[in-house]
Amino acid sequence: MSQTDRTRALRPATRMVHAGTMRSQFGEMSEALFLTQGFIYDTAEAAEARFKGEDDGFIYSRYSNPTTRMFEERMMALEGAEDARATASGMAAVTAALQCSVKAGDHVVAARALFGSCRYVLETVLGRAGVACTLVDGRNLDAWRAAVTPRTKLFFLESPTNPTLEVVDIAAVAEIAHAAGARLVVDNVFATPLQQKPLELGADVVVYSATKHIDGQGRCLGGVILSSKAWIDENLHDFFRHTGPSLSPFNAWTLLKGLETLPLRVAAQTANAALLADHLADSEKVSRVIYPGRADHPDAAVIARQMSGGSTLLAFEVKGGKEAAFRFANALEIVSISNNLGDAKSLITHPATTTHKNLSPEDRAELGIGDGLLRLSAGIEDAADLIDDVETALAAT
Ligand SMILES: *Cc1c(COP(=O)(O)O)cnc(C)c1O
Repeated sequence: MSQTDRTRALRPATRMVHAGTMRSQFGEMSEALFLTQGFIYDTAEAAEARFKGEDDGFIYSRYSNPTTRMFEERMMALEGAEDARATASGMAAVTAALQCSVKAGDHVVAARALFGSCRYVLETVLGRAGVACTLVDGRNLDAWRAAVTPRTKLFFLESPTNPTLEVVDIAAVAEIAHAAGARLVVDNVFATPLQQKPLELGADVVVYSATKHIDGQGRCLGGVILSSKAWIDENLHDFFRHTGPSLSPFNAWTLLKGLETLPLRVAAQTANAALLADHLADSEKVSRVIYPGRADHPDAAVIARQMSGGSTLLAFEVKGGKEAAFRFANALEIVSISNNLGDAKSLITHPATTTHKNLSPEDRAELGIGDGLLRLSAGIEDAADLIDDVETALAAT
């Protein structure tokens, strides 16, 4: 039984400290950083055997590296996936997962509320390769069904969505995809691997930007693709080896150490987010609070079925549009203005003028992104200090 098989039976917090560890002959306590491009063989025969696949040692860090493999194995244990490939960024993970699922002439159906770069990959990168795409309202199951054509091979969605934290019914969409002979890829960044398990809900592939909660301390970019061993062998393995979206071993080591504290950080961030959501909902200066842990969330029934423990993110609309939203953000002293999320530091974003500025005003309105909307990613600071900070900002709007 491998290390991963043994640790898979353990609870997530234990797995995040131990799963995937491969110790060298020196018995180091902390995971070793193998900062090497290549590997050396004792004999020409040994090199020949490795290239033939007769022994499963490492060949070249574009294909695989011991530190990177430890990160992949720990992610597999957390997600309950048979295999994984780590990538240089979240977008490298999304791009590889989507490109490897389709060929010219195929058709993709995707939920419209997408991270801007994901939309570019779907419409422009895949579009140039002769793949058509239909965008639908992800919460409308009839819209998914209606968009299917005989050429549909792939469904893609994010949930909760950015920035309005809408939640798509992953199990229902997976069923529609499979009935159409298509596969479902889910970008699970906002939920983290702790609060939502897309593979258990029926998704075929799950992708992460490890840049967000998995690092969670603002240090490096990274991504990961998780799926069945068969899907990775058949669809991703050769593409990954030959096109080189691989994660640097140094960043893999940083992310591996990040995973050790992921459950602690996500629990603290979620507790802070829930508190801030309730606090903001009580203010007469706020017209709307969207938090996937509150009973008044429009998708509360789906959330109860498919997510656990709320969210580290909240969105809210201040009365007074862009001017009030800017005054709120500028008055904050602990919460920083940034488009990043999932960090130990609390961060606030004004989507209409930053992450979603490239959408037309009509598209923004359709996605519920008003000029007064702010997205807050809760950090691990003391809750009382965050509440004080938000109180000061509310007074300034
Ligand atoms: C940040 C993000 C990505 C892209 O990840 P990078 O690591 O920045 O490349 C993709 N999807 C979602 C939902 C994200 O939040």
